[in-house]
Amino acid sequence: MDVTTLLVIFSAVIAATVVIAFVSRRAKAADAVESIQQVAEVSGAVVEPEIANEPVVLAEPELSRMQRLRSRLSGSNNALGRGLFAVFSRDRLDDEVWQDLRDTLIMADVGVESAFEIVQAVQEIARARAISDPADLQGVVRGVLIDAINPGLDRSLAVERSGDVPAVVLVVGVNGTGKNTTTGKLARLLASEDHDVLLGAADTFRAAAAEQLVTWGERAGVPVVRGAEGADPASVAFEAVSAGVDNDVDVVIVDTAGRLHTKTGLMDELSKIQRVIEKKAPVTEVLLVIDATTGQNGLVQAKTFADAVPLTGIALTKLDGSAKGGIIIAVQRELGVPVKLVGLGEGPDDLAPFEVVTFVDELLTP
Ligand code: GDP
Ligand code: GDP
Ligand code: MG
Repeated sequence: MDVTTLLVIFSAVIAATVVIAFVSRRAKAADAVESIQQVAEVSGAVVEPEIANEPVVLAEPELSRMQRLRSRLSGSNNALGRGLFAVFSRDRLDDEVWQDLRDTLIMADVGVESAFEIVQAVQEIARARAISDPADLQGVVRGVLIDAINPGLDRSLAVERSGDVPAVVLVVGVNGTGKNTTTGKLARLLASEDHDVLLGAADTFRAAAAEQLVTWGERAGVPVVRGAEGADPASVAFEAVSAGVDNDVDVVIVDTAGRLHTKTGLMDELSKIQRVIEKKAPVTEVLLVIDATTGQNGLVQAKTFADAVPLTGIALTKLDGSAKGGIIIAVQRELGVPVKLVGLGEGPDDLAPFEVVTFVDELLTP
């Protein structure tokens, strides 16, 4: 046999394996949808979509995802990178340098207190190392920013089954921040990592929200449990988690409505959703979605949610737009939980696990 023949045989074997894996996955998904539909019909909830005959589009692998997203990250954070570059390019290390460094950080949404602390930490290191050329500050600033974002925080998502029940992710946040979109992208990401995912459309306030989630379900090849418009969101969440339990899925992701009617109303609604879900399975992850372009204002609103439910992580969206990357430092400081996911566009694969060093290096790129 010559090399070409071997190659042809080899490719054929690979192709067959991929097809078998794909078909068995599809068959599994189709089975799940059918039995979930039976469960849900009893209670009047609706399960969509009928994915059995829809092609399942696999999401992009994580590595190429990060690489593709890097350019957008640096694009959005040029202002900070350029500002810092100007500071590092000065002739002498004098008070003006420290002032400019502080102002640059504040303008990048880092927050006033954090900016002061960061500058102080940089000053101490610069003194200890007898740095006199502002250019030598670059590495110091990089290290201090990495420390400020804290690479030691656990940023993994609790999305594994435990005992006999699925993990449950509750997605909360102000309307328009990107909850619906982030729920859909996350479903796609987890499904591509071979998780059995089920979505719950508990944002019953807006009819379009459930429709959008059904579309995301189709894109991810995962079933969606939805209720009628105006249905009690807690009951839809309950149906979704029940269907997830009965069908042995790995993770149920529940999208919620985020109208800040009154703070008490919001707290009541979210704590009721959580309480009702936990009749079936513990909520393992409460993700707060924050729109990075809203800066410090968005942070004030987001804090209301932190008071309403015990947060475990943050999804920071729209970092591809006019957002200033420094907001990540302010968000973590104010809310006391790590940023776990970043949204970098409107496309189905524009969601990435947050990675501190990559992020800081992009921040520092002019
Ligand atoms: P919700 O009201 O919180 O559920 O927000 P949606 O998920 O409906 O999103 C509101 C808008 O923000 C939509 O137009 C989304 O496409 C957009 N969006 C969400 N995430 C991102 C992101 O990471 N980048 C950009 N550029 N747009 C986003
Ligand atoms: P408005 O009178 O037009 O301002 O509307 P309301 O704020 O009174 O809302 C109309 C209905 O929707 C009321 O029954 C509210 O309880 C309900 N509602 C308001 N915000 C939310 C929300 O975020 N989620 C859910 N599920 N219901 C909401
Ligand atoms: Mg929504």
